[in-house]
Amino acid sequence: MSSSWRRIAATSILAVATLLCSPTANGAPPRRQRARVVKPPPPPPPVLEIPEATRLLVIAPHPDDEVLGAGGLMQRVKATGGTVRVVYLTDGDGYPEGVKEEDHVEAPTARDYLGYGKQRRREAHAALVRLGLGDAFQTFLGFPDGGLCQLTRAYWSERRAAYRSPYTRLNRPPKSEMLVPATQYRGEDLSQEIALVIGDFKPTMIAVPRREDQHADHCAAWYFLNDSLNDVRRVHPEFTTDEINYIVHFNTWPFEDDGPALEPPPGLRGGASGWMRLALTPAETRAKRQALRRFTTQVHVMDWFLDGFARSNEVFSRPRPFRVILPSRRSPCCDQ
Ligand SMILES: [Zn+2]
Repeated sequence: MSSSWRRIAATSILAVATLLCSPTANGAPPRRQRARVVKPPPPPPPVLEIPEATRLLVIAPHPDDEVLGAGGLMQRVKATGGTVRVVYLTDGDGYPEGVKEEDHVEAPTARDYLGYGKQRRREAHAALVRLGLGDAFQTFLGFPDGGLCQLTRAYWSERRAAYRSPYTRLNRPPKSEMLVPATQYRGEDLSQEIALVIGDFKPTMIAVPRREDQHADHCAAWYFLNDSLNDVRRVHPEFTTDEINYIVHFNTWPFEDDGPALEPPPGLRGGASGWMRLALTPAETRAKRQALRRFTTQVHVMDWFLDGFARSNEVFSRPRPFRVILPSRRSPCCDQ
């Protein structure tokens, strides 16, 4: 390097050093520092608190939803001195692909569908036993799988004939499953039965699918629960409970990733509470995974789906205020 080049190089280095280290000519701090905005770290996601002696009622549209959505929550409630009751709105019998797979038949009969429903009820009991909840009260209401959304509007009251399941051919639950005598497949009757369970059990916390759940029966379950709560509060205005929502069907969720944690569904806001996490212990996650394996009829057709929910946490949200009026003029869930 020549001496003139050395001089130029030295001057350039000095100029850069001056720019980097000293205040600008007017004494203000360098531009880079001025532009820097220090953002506070995002707050940690809210956590679902479970008070001692919680009385948890889980509303499951089909056998397996209670474990998919709240298998960890149910274990935790029990472990902290609480009580769990599960209400199954349907027996999950209206599932042609499942029945064909299970019975190896091409055209299942009503009898096949009924047998499938019975099998799913047995599996639901085995699953709860695996969760350490063999003594939990399980109530099967026997309403029509795949037909709940229609009961929110067309098949609401006695003004027309009750809904008839295209699978089981029934238009009412079996007598052994009726809580209210003469119950038929009508929306009003389902609301009444759920209200009866709530009045009897007096839950301090109720877990039900979100109304945005894309399975029509799940969405309808939300409407029926909230309609029942309106009925309960008409008679017992002092009744309060903590309604939390879980979700099972939403686009491709929860398969956007296969990490150990269950992240809330992308694009779905966390309601009034934000998405609340319930962290599970490894033993709770293991029990949940094994409980899901008890639903053998479902393992045969969608084991990958069940496995996707056995992770290190569960997610819940509380609903924003929403006035439920049933029957609904439009069917809010049938187009899901
Ligand atoms: Zn379901």
